[in-house]
Amino acid sequence: MHALTEQFIDNAWVASHAEARHPLIDPYRGTPIGEVTAGDPADVEAAVAAARRALPGWRATPEARRGDHLEAIAAGLETRREALAALSSRNNGKPLAEAHQDLDDAIACYRYYAARARVLGERQGQRDDGGIDGLTARRYWEPIGVVGLITPWNFPLVSSAWKLAPALAAGCTVVFKPSEVTPLPERALAEIVLEAGLPPGVVNLLHGDGPGIGAPLSRHPGVDKLSFTGSNPVGETVMRAAARGVRPVSLELGGKSPILVTEDADLAQARDLVMAGICYNAGQMCSATSRLLVHERLADALYAAIDAAMGTLRLGDPLATETDMGPLVNAAQRDRVRGYLALAEGLHSETPALALPEQGCFVAPRLYREVPTTSRLWREEIFGPLLCARRVASDEEAIALANDSDYGLAASVVTGDPTRAEAIARRLEAGNVWINCDQVAPPHASWGGMKGSGIGRELGEAGLAAYLEPKRVTLPRR
Ligand code: NAD
Repeated sequence: MHALTEQFIDNAWVASHAEARHPLIDPYRGTPIGEVTAGDPADVEAAVAAARRALPGWRATPEARRGDHLEAIAAGLETRREALAALSSRNNGKPLAEAHQDLDDAIACYRYYAARARVLGERQGQRDDGGIDGLTARRYWEPIGVVGLITPWNFPLVSSAWKLAPALAAGCTVVFKPSEVTPLPERALAEIVLEAGLPPGVVNLLHGDGPGIGAPLSRHPGVDKLSFTGSNPVGETVMRAAARGVRPVSLELGGKSPILVTEDADLAQARDLVMAGICYNAGQMCSATSRLLVHERLADALYAAIDAAMGTLRLGDPLATETDMGPLVNAAQRDRVRGYLALAEGLHSETPALALPEQGCFVAPRLYREVPTTSRLWREEIFGPLLCARRVASDEEAIALANDSDYGLAASVVTGDPTRAEAIARRLEAGNVWINCDQVAPPHASWGGMKGSGIGRELGEAGLAAYLEPKRVTLPRR
């Protein structure tokens, strides 16, 4: 049993001011594995004060040295890889192999920003004459300051790496609030930060829920920027809170991403990419490709292939190597997805009913055919393994339907003609489009959405720029 009742502030564990706690339940076994404090605004006060005290020293630390610290965090994750993957799998319910992929992604992200920190150092003070007579200029990038980082539960250690690594590279100090649903793997970050020798107050980790930590952190005037990943309603709340003091936000929100399959696509490849886009992490992905738009000539064959693949998935213990899909993260999420199943009554599905394991928060994967575009199933983010499909007569129709969404996070195109697919990709309203591949997000690429899927980009250069203020110093040319 893990008791997460302490907060990591100023490189020390201190008791949370909150009395209330949330139980942590293994979503497969249904047994308690720990509890986590709900957090308290007084915890936020102490953490923000520590981050503010640490800011002058950390921003003055040479970028290359900050990069060394990031390398040390990557090494700390590497050392704990096996234990953290198992802990993440138990806390979240994701298959162990997927938890290992999360570790790979997180480690690669810290390493990438270690390198970017060094490059940033080399660029500071670059001259830019700009063609103005008698004047020259130097360019600098200053850290935004103290940043509040808030993450969801679906990719523990990954969502946090995407924020912590660039923020620290930039010279910001951090108050980080992981999801109260999956705090167990994230807690290790505090131990790693200690080991990596980061100065006190540079990284503060607060456990807790929205009211206890998230809301007071978003409101706090001592926080110069907020970076939030999570649902749209909470993202809007964070943005409203940030309006006071005109503080910038980065928002990574929901999605209802399309996967387009043209008539010349390879059937087996299309099946595999569709399956990966809706079944990975049991569909609990912001970028899940949950709307299938398939050319009418391939539709029946693809539907049959997907149904057959869904019918043979092995649902079970996420720690068992033979498991293809684990449970949803908790009973609340399972019940939410079941609510959509109730709405789907009357819709056309031929997916064989999988026998669910006797225990655990499972929902069987399902394909619904020719789902009305006005239905909630088609329009809302479900965050579970439910796939909605429609057949289309042309690329034009597929693009129009793909873009008919409040979201614009990602899209996939499966095709026999990558040139045609690139033309389609240019017209899709999505921050990432994958052609004959799926869910690729390497650290040097950018990640983020158009329209309701958010504001700003994580990863890559843009992910670092999100924590920097460009500064131009103009002076007489000598
Ligand atoms: P959520 O919005 O319920 O919670 C996200 C985080 O916000 C949690 O840490 C939570 O404690 C905190 N929070 C809750 N209330 C708050 C408040 N009033 N003020 C500040 N913080 C508050 O989301 P979730 O259920 O944890 O995650 C699922 C959602 O996240 C989905 O909508 C999914 O699409 C989205 N998501 C997006 C991306 C992306 O990159 N675009 C990635 C992963 C998840």
